[in-house]
Amino acid sequence: MAQITPTGPNAAGVRWDLAPICADAATARVQLDETIARADAFDARHRGRVGELDAAGLAEALAELAAISNALHRVGSYVSLRRAVDVNDDEARDLETVVDQGMVRAQNALRFFDLEWIDLDDAVAEPLMAAPEVAADRHHLRSSRRFRPHVLPDDQERMLTERDPLLSAWQNLFAQTVANIRAPFDDGTGEADRTVDELLSYLHIPEREVRIAALEALYAALEPNVDVLSSCYDSIVADRLVQDRLRGYATPLDPRHLANELEPAWVDAMMTAIEDRYGMAQRWFRHKAGLMGLDTLHLADQYAPLGAGRPMPYAEAVAIVEDSFGRFSGEILDVARAVFEERRVDAEPRPGKRGGAFCSSVAQDAQPFILLNHTDTLRDLMTVAHELGHGMHFALSSRAQSALSMHAPLALCEVPSTFAELLVFDRMLKEEPDAATRTALVRQELESGFATVFRQTMMVRYEQDAYGARQGGQALTADRLSGFWIDRNARYYGDSVELPEGYRRGWSYIPHFINTRFYTYAYAFAHLASLTLYALYREDGDAFVGPYLDFLRTGGAASPGEQLGAFGIDLADAATWARGLDEMERMVELAVEV
Ligand SMILES: [Zn+2]
Repeated sequence: MAQITPTGPNAAGVRWDLAPICADAATARVQLDETIARADAFDARHRGRVGELDAAGLAEALAELAAISNALHRVGSYVSLRRAVDVNDDEARDLETVVDQGMVRAQNALRFFDLEWIDLDDAVAEPLMAAPEVAADRHHLRSSRRFRPHVLPDDQERMLTERDPLLSAWQNLFAQTVANIRAPFDDGTGEADRTVDELLSYLHIPEREVRIAALEALYAALEPNVDVLSSCYDSIVADRLVQDRLRGYATPLDPRHLANELEPAWVDAMMTAIEDRYGMAQRWFRHKAGLMGLDTLHLADQYAPLGAGRPMPYAEAVAIVEDSFGRFSGEILDVARAVFEERRVDAEPRPGKRGGAFCSSVAQDAQPFILLNHTDTLRDLMTVAHELGHGMHFALSSRAQSALSMHAPLALCEVPSTFAELLVFDRMLKEEPDAATRTALVRQELESGFATVFRQTMMVRYEQDAYGARQGGQALTADRLSGFWIDRNARYYGDSVELPEGYRRGWSYIPHFINTRFYTYAYAFAHLASLTLYALYREDGDAFVGPYLDFLRTGGAASPGEQLGAFGIDLADAATWARGLDEMERMVELAVEV
């Protein structure tokens, strides 16, 4: 394990080696040019003639599309990974400009294929999809046609596309307004102007007065901007509703459900089941108040740390994750080991490197790479597990599927990452000798589960209120949105958390509402699905492992309903969600006992 031998603090020296993706910037430029030429050739050969393809011709075209997609992803990943670890890498910045332009050009050259495919009559498309030659990409072919009933005649589609910059203008105004918000705030080190993200980051620190003051500073800074922010939202919602009407969508959620390949009734049953269990979060919030010696928890205490547990140096975190994976399956242990041995992790925080963590699939004919910022905390341990869980999914699906079929539907993307966290969580609860560390871990997982399952669902309900009001002819003013927001929050928190007056503006800076409506329920879906799968693993033991590896290999080759159905999970059954929620309840019991 060459990469993790330096075991200095904060993963010192753990940097990735991008050479297997691409040798250098000059090579990347050559590969990009070759790929654009290939996309142009594809365009010249097939444009206007997709309907004439027989099964063998369609299979050949798909193989060429997959090869082009691979080459583009390889070059695009190379440049974005270089940028991620060094914002001052000028060579990478120049390359990024060229790659961005090249990507747009290639996409413009290739877009016709999907559009012509969607446009084919069922009588032509059905026999093609049934042909054995295209079996590997059958789900991709079928699912890309799901928007067909909502596609407008060509000239109308073009008019709508030409109007796209207008929508982007509202989104840009929103993003710019939020990015420019500054609040003078003294965190104890002296007063300075802080951004929205900086103020929110104080919610995770131990000093209570600083947390509460940071929230107050945030609300004061939001207030003068809420009219602009609500106007952006009002305009965007109005535009989406017009498009929904033209495209024949029955409800504002339907385009999202269709994109997620989920039935509206399934999602509604899930959200209702989640709302019915808000009480378990309230129970924890009351308990936490008691632990902190308070009568009632303040909103600023929601994520307050209650003890950090012992430090988790990088080498130990890797060893724990490998051990946890190895108990589950030798195959996923091998995949994890290869990530470390082949130096596909960049874990050392350093100036110029972006924050947070992610796993990049890179390309179907490449291996996944992982970015971390390891600072030896317990949370960092779970982040290693989380990102390796994504890596597992990418590694197995890329071996089994084509570039067009490897990527899982959005609702399932966070399942393997959450499941990997649960493997580590379970092992730690059983074997971690330090009681304070076990306690900190339970609380940490519980609170992040509440944020993912309950809070994200509450946010979708708020969006539904807003769309409903706009449909009913009410403008989405700041005060009206604040009313919906507080109403939905009050249902979630009950009287277990004191919501400060300024929190009524809490909707105003959240980008999901502006960029991708109803996006957040997919997080709740994936979290509950992982908990349910983990419960099955606990019941079935080793018999569960084979089907789970098959699930990882499936990637995007089947819908969420089909993939979870293979485990006997019936998304049409409202009782399905009780299992995952019962698992959360178990965790509340643990957290309240310790
Ligand atoms: Zn993730």
